[in-house]
Amino acid sequence: MPSSTLHPAASQHSFHLSEDQQQLRDLIRKFAAREIAPHVMEWDEASEFPAAVVKQLGEMGLMGIIFPEEYGGSGLGYTDYMMAVEELSSVDGSIGIIVASHNSLCTNHIFTAGNEQQRRRYIPKLASGQWLGAWGLTESSSGSDAAGARTTAVRQGDNWVLNGNKIFITNGHYADVAVVIAVTDKSAGTHGLSAFVVEKGTPGFRPGRKENKLGLRASDTSELIFEDCVIPGENLVGKEGEGFIDSLRILDGGRISIAALSLGIARGAYEAALRYVKERRQFGKAIADFQGIQWKLADMATQLDAARLLTLRAAAMKDAGEKTTLASSMAKLHASEVAVRICDEAVQLHGGYGFIKDYPVEKFYRDVKLCTIGEGTSEIQRLVIAREILK
Ligand SMILES: Cc1cc2nc3c(=O)[nH]c(=O)nc-3n(C[C@H](O)[C@H](O)[C@H](O)COP(=O)(O)OP(=O)(O)OC[C@H]3O[C@@H](n4cnc5c(N)ncnc54)[C@H](O)[C@@H]3O)c2cc1C
Repeated sequence: MPSSTLHPAASQHSFHLSEDQQQLRDLIRKFAAREIAPHVMEWDEASEFPAAVVKQLGEMGLMGIIFPEEYGGSGLGYTDYMMAVEELSSVDGSIGIIVASHNSLCTNHIFTAGNEQQRRRYIPKLASGQWLGAWGLTESSSGSDAAGARTTAVRQGDNWVLNGNKIFITNGHYADVAVVIAVTDKSAGTHGLSAFVVEKGTPGFRPGRKENKLGLRASDTSELIFEDCVIPGENLVGKEGEGFIDSLRILDGGRISIAALSLGIARGAYEAALRYVKERRQFGKAIADFQGIQWKLADMATQLDAARLLTLRAAAMKDAGEKTTLASSMAKLHASEVAVRICDEAVQLHGGYGFIKDYPVEKFYRDVKLCTIGEGTSEIQRLVIAREILK
């Protein structure tokens, strides 16, 4: 179990990391401390996309972590993936979300629904980090109700012509490849949407407005604009009319990565708070000596581990090839909600210092809010969970 939060006695169970996983975690930890931590605030202030780090992550195999080696991936599973996203996000959630949307949304959509030719064309470049991927489902009038998309794809001879806008797309501005969902048959409801892969530089396709955000500011969140964008017929990913249904499958995996993003950000905040309460003295003693503070820490540690166990279960089920709709939504809902609470409490434990940018909890507090919104809000997770348990 990848946890600095567990008491040693609690680590004598079956959730041990394998030796390979420990090595990977240590590698990521060292890399994050050396290449990410020193720049976190400067990237955040400037909303600077850390392109060089993304390339390095590609060289480390983290941009293709869940894809088979024959496609240039690292051949690892969701358990490793979850650990990697958590580890990166404990230092900078922006890096976590860049890796998450690239791996489990864009690349995985092509890997899961694409044909062999598409896999061979895109996966090796994406998995190596040579290309960056984005995944576009959301539109200005359709977020939670994603099936209400208005972007259209119309057949024209052997080609498709795309028109419309996607918004809030992670990596949108920097992506070399985007998988986008568009309406191909308005009368067919959820079976009237299809997925397409669009390459950067295709005439009629350009990134638009780059959002100025509360948190995760080093990650890019942009509009994608399609104006009479002509793409070859072969760029249809999966079956015509199945793009939305495939997207729901993709989100089953993606939500595990948002749970891991939540865990990482919350752990970063929790560990910062744990250090701080031992150092900060009031009333003649370390504030960690007050029972009121200890109870807060106990709650934070317990919530974090409970969230990790739910996430680990979803990841293990995914690795076993099981359907994870329920487990993924439970993990995402719980991890994101407790992560918001943990970050809030971490700021509280810092008092006034938690409110200023010299201490890392200020940024964790801003970054973590995305976790209850992206890849389906908490309300939508509850809707999915209720639907599954009432089946
Ligand atoms: C930083 C960031 C990155 C993102 N990255 C991507 C990306 O890479 N690709 C992509 O496609 N999208 C992305 N998104 C979009 C994200 O998935 C949506 O913002 C999210 O799904 C919510 O949609 P919305 O913003 O339209 O909110 P709305 O759907 O308008 O929701 C508004 C409120 O109403 C609630 N609500 C809606 N329907 C119901 C209901 N039936 N019952 C109860 N409550 C309901 C919601 O929970 C929410 O509280 C990103 C968003 C952000 C902020």
